[in-house]
Amino acid sequence: MKRAYRPTNARNQAHKVKLAALAIYSAGTMTCAVCGFADIRALSIDHIANDGYKEHKNSRGGNNLAWKLKREDYPPGFQVLCLNCNWIKEHERRQREGRSHK
Ligand SMILES: [Zn+2]
Repeated sequence: MKRAYRPTNARNQAHKVKLAALAIYSAGTMTCAVCGFADIRALSIDHIANDGYKEHKNSRGGNNLAWKLKREDYPPGFQVLCLNCNWIKEHERRQREGRSHK
């Protein structure tokens, strides 16, 4: 369902949804699960087992993912990572995939 709303409202709403997801998946700490980084501007929701779950194209902080998680009532299997750790994890995953040519 598409509703008409002002862009600013949508942005605030998206921000709230993201904050809620971050709080839930960090057990209320709002910090990176790996390094403890605590600036929410650089925190995002990460799918712990990446397999078969591509969320990386155009994902800027995972707002869409936050909505999806909210809709699905916050299923398990996600964690909060800062962008550094997220990037490192992604890099290592790509290296693994690169090594095992299919
Ligand atoms: Zn981190």
